[in-house]
Amino acid sequence: MTDVLNQLNSVWNQLIDLTSRFVVPDWGALINLLPVLLLIGVVGPLLTLIVFAWLVYGVRAPRAKVQFDEGPDRAPVGPDGQLEAPRGLPYCRRDGLVFASGTTRCTECGDDLAVICPMCGLGREATISTCGNCGLVLQVKPRVRVLRPAGPPPGGGAVA
Ligand SMILES: [Zn+2]
Ligand SMILES: [Zn+2]
Repeated sequence: MTDVLNQLNSVWNQLIDLTSRFVVPDWGALINLLPVLLLIGVVGPLLTLIVFAWLVYGVRAPRAKVQFDEGPDRAPVGPDGQLEAPRGLPYCRRDGLVFASGTTRCTECGDDLAVICPMCGLGREATISTCGNCGLVLQVKPRVRVLRPAGPPPGGGAVA
């Protein structure tokens, strides 16, 4: 009886020994591999994402910004094909570009810009600040898009 128990015990011990010999090095190897696995499984995709995002922003954002900061707006064209330049803003008749107020020369073709009087709707050279028709003086300050007239335009066309 004791022999059997002893044998069982030794077998059990051998089993534990075997298991520990198999399991512990395995776990150790796994734990050693963990940083590598983390690197591949987490940092790799993260890095890929970061690089991808950086590429997308690096490629797209500056282009959009340059266009937004420097590029003149394109003037809307009406259904009849005529330019519908916003009143009070200098625009190029040739390119159909609308510039910030204060601009007098087209950056594309070098033409003198025209401006439509916000009060009476008469076009004139953008270098002339006072309307020859109604006498409205346009403020040539950037950011101030249109000097609003006191009364409605006599033409009654576009109400700003
Ligand atoms: Zn032009
Ligand atoms: Zn006018």
